[in-house]
Amino acid sequence: MQERFDKLIIVKTINEIASSIGITSFRSPQDEIIKSIIGKKITLALLPTGYGKSICYQIPAIYFPKYTLVISPLIALMDDQVFNLRKKDISAIALHSSQEVDSKTFLDLFHKNHYKLIYISPEKLLNNNYQKLFKDNPPSLIAIDEAHCFSLWGHDFRPEYRRLPKYIFEINPSPAIALFTATASKKVIVDLVGSFNIRKENIFAGDFFRQNLFISIKKFFLKSQKFLYLCYLVFHKYKNKNGLIYCITRKEVEILYKALKKYDFFKKLKLEFFHAGRDKKEKQIILEKFIKNEIKLLITTNAFGMGVDKSNINFVVHFQIPSCLENYVQEIGRAGRDRKLSFCELLAHSNDFEVHKNFNSKKSAIKKMSDYIEKNSCHHKKILSFFGQPMKYSFNCQSCNYCSPSSEIFFKKFNSIQKSNTFINQQKIIFKYKKYPRFLNQYNSVGSGYLLDVLE
Ligand SMILES: [Zn+2]
Repeated sequence: MQERFDKLIIVKTINEIASSIGITSFRSPQDEIIKSIIGKKITLALLPTGYGKSICYQIPAIYFPKYTLVISPLIALMDDQVFNLRKKDISAIALHSSQEVDSKTFLDLFHKNHYKLIYISPEKLLNNNYQKLFKDNPPSLIAIDEAHCFSLWGHDFRPEYRRLPKYIFEINPSPAIALFTATASKKVIVDLVGSFNIRKENIFAGDFFRQNLFISIKKFFLKSQKFLYLCYLVFHKYKNKNGLIYCITRKEVEILYKALKKYDFFKKLKLEFFHAGRDKKEKQIILEKFIKNEIKLLITTNAFGMGVDKSNINFVVHFQIPSCLENYVQEIGRAGRDRKLSFCELLAHSNDFEVHKNFNSKKSAIKKMSDYIEKNSCHHKKILSFFGQPMKYSFNCQSCNYCSPSSEIFFKKFNSIQKSNTFINQQKIIFKYKKYPRFLNQYNSVGSGYLLDVLE
C-alpha cells in the first residue's frame, strides 16, 4: 500500500516538474526511463536522435536533492544544453577549457549547492582535480551521454569512457546511473550492459522506425552523373527546401560547393559549406543563419550536427557513402524532426569506398555500410535490424525506394540510360522532365566537360 502511494507521489511530482519546464506530454518510453532513474536503477536508454533524451535525465536532476553530473563528449553539445537549461531558470554549467567562471568561483558556488546540472567530458573529469571533488561530494545522478563512445565497437570510441565504470562504482554513497545513446548496435549494448551491470528490465528503447523519412539509395557509375542528379534534386525536386548535403572530406565539400555555385545560374540557392577547418566565428554565423532559414542548403562533413537543433530540415543527401551505418542513421535522423514527410537520399558511387580506405575507416564498418547499400530489402528494416529493434511492423514500410519503387519513376528513367554514357540525354531527361528549358540551354552552354574536369 505504502509503495503504491509512493509511486503515485512520484508520478505526480514528475508531471509537475515536466510542466514547470514546458513539457506537456511524454513519448513512450520517456516516462518509464525517468521513473527507472528516479528509482535508482542503472538505466540504459536507446533513443533515436531528436526523440528528447535530455529531458529523461533533466527531470530526475530537478527531482533529486543534490546535483547531477552529465558526462558528455562534446563542448558544443554541453554549451547548447546549458543554454537551454538556463532559459528555463535551471542552474547549470559546462566545465571545459572556455568555461565562463574561474575555478574559485565555481568551487564557491558548487559548495553552496548552486548547480543542478554539471556537464563535463570524461577526459576533463578523470584527468584532474574534478575526479576527487565529485567523489568527495557525490552527485545524486550521473548521466552518461553518447554512451556508445564507451565501446570499442562504438563508432566514436573515446578511451577515457572506458575508465568511467570503475570511477563511478567507487563513489559512496552511490549515485543513480543512467546511460543514453542514439546509435548503439547489438555489440555495443552487450558491452555496456556487462560493464555497467545493467539489468535487462532497465533497458529502454524508443521507436527507431521513422516513417516520415523516405529513404532512397541510388547507385551511379559516373561521378558526373551523380552530380547531375544532385542538380536535379537541389534545383527542382527540393527547390526552396531546407537541406543538408554530406560529403566525407573537406576537399569534396569545397569542390561541390564551387560546382553548385557555378551551376546556380539564377542565384537561387542559399548555399554555404561547413567543416571543421572553417574559422570558429564563421561556423557560428553559418549555423545561426541555417537555423533561421537564411541559409537553406548546407554542404558539410560530419562535423555538422551534434547539438544543432533544427526541426525543419526537409531533406538530407549523402553525396558520398558515409563511413559507418551509425553515422548515416544519425545524419538522416536530422531530417523531419517536425514529423513532416522528409527525404533522405544516399547517392552511392563505388569510388567512395576507396576514399574511406585512404581515410583509415574501420573495415568492418565499411563492410556493414556496403551490405546496407547492396542488400535488396527494405531500407528501414535493415536499419532496425542493425539496431536490434523488434520488428513491430509488417513491412512493406511505404517509406523507402525498395518498398515503394513506383514513387521513383523519374530515377528509373534516368537510370535506364546510365550505362550508355549518354550524358546529354540525361540532362535532357532531367530538365525536360521539369520543363526548365532556359536552364537546360545555359547548362549545355557550359557543357558537361567542366563537370567531368571538376568531378572525375
Ligand atoms: Zn521499406
